[in-house]
Amino acid sequence: MPMYEFKCRDCHDTFEVNRPMSESSAPATCPSGHSDTVKLLSMAGLAGSASAAGPAAGGGGGCCGGGCCG
Ligand SMILES: [Zn+2]
Repeated sequence: MPMYEFKCRDCHDTFEVNRPMSESSAPATCPSGHSDTVKLLSMAGLAGSASAAGPAAGGGGGCCGGGCCG
């Protein structure tokens, strides 16, 4: 299950929530009970897919491969 990192705009604390991707955009409540939170892009949560997408993203840009950077 993916882990999402949230930041509370009330107490400025960050916390992590494990939830299904289907609920990734659902609001989260901070451990102190505040509901004014924003979702952060968590590197930890994307570690699994990042390692697989890294090399592909670097070599598959398309621009240099097509010779337009020459
Ligand atoms: Zn809070």
